[in-house]
Amino acid sequence: MQAKNQKIVVLGTGGTIAGESNSENEGLSYQAAQRSIHDLMQAVAGKSQALPEALIGFQFDTEQVSQIDSKDMDFDIWHRLALRCDHWLSQADVHSVVITHGTDTLEETAYFLSQVVQHNKPIVLTCAMRPANFKDADGPQNMRDALNAASQLEGQGVWLVAAGEIHHSQYVQKVHPTRLNAFDSGEWGPVAEMRDDQIYWRQGALENCPQNQWNEGMTIQALALPTEWPWVEIITNHVHATAKHVEVLLDAGVDGLVVAGTGNGSICQVTKEALLKAQTRGVEICLASRCNQGPVVQTPNHVFQIAKELNPSKARVALILNILSKKQSHNN
Ligand code: ASP
Repeated sequence: MQAKNQKIVVLGTGGTIAGESNSENEGLSYQAAQRSIHDLMQAVAGKSQALPEALIGFQFDTEQVSQIDSKDMDFDIWHRLALRCDHWLSQADVHSVVITHGTDTLEETAYFLSQVVQHNKPIVLTCAMRPANFKDADGPQNMRDALNAASQLEGQGVWLVAAGEIHHSQYVQKVHPTRLNAFDSGEWGPVAEMRDDQIYWRQGALENCPQNQWNEGMTIQALALPTEWPWVEIITNHVHATAKHVEVLLDAGVDGLVVAGTGNGSICQVTKEALLKAQTRGVEICLASRCNQGPVVQTPNHVFQIAKELNPSKARVALILNILSKKQSHNN
């Protein structure tokens, strides 16, 4: 049983979980980011609520880090959020951090935090597909599950808890625009399911999750300020692809390009040549796949670094950090 007087800190960033629509029957048209994290917590862990057993003895603190629709998430908020995670997780009495976040860019934030917040304590993100005042809002249950999971997870790791599932930040992605269970970890699957306040771990799933190989120079304190972070774009290979986007981006000073290639990271010849030219001019290239499952597997045909299991959005985060790391070691 968990020691008493441990704390779970809940950071609010906005999203549909904090959203409101005009009526309790309207679940798709609404304003995200309307309710404070304090109010969301009151709804699930207010004085009159019976909490899951695992949460008994925990205290909760809340902090509003931002109040946005996650489509508008930016580097400044990421920087602040990572610093706040670091601040709280440094404190001996804090067991874990829970973050409420919009679903649209959640997987990018989760992956980013997994790379720069270097503590052996868990961070759990949660979200909702329906606004807070919808008649069957999913936010309160997701929040309850997230707190429950946060109290039981140990050690490093960034997780998503939603729709009765726990996913690892490395694999999870949003796969459906409207469905209640909008997240999936592809062939890796969720690590656990949650029903009636109980966690059912999939056998061997936790042990098989990747441990972070943290780069010590990439702690959030060691990172340059967001204004210095590199400019990295994602381009896609498709039928009748051209080189025009690469040329325009190169002329505009792009620092890195992630290619959402077809299949196992294939790129049409004309785009590949433009990318090779961009590479000789110092642009970092990383190859991912536009397929939404499975890793890109290295073959002799791959002339650029590959993103392995990271989808293009997460590969972009990895490339941003990679470029920053190279710049920092160059300057030292
Ligand atoms: N647009 C919302 C957001 O990402 C969607 C959601 O939270 O479900 O903030």
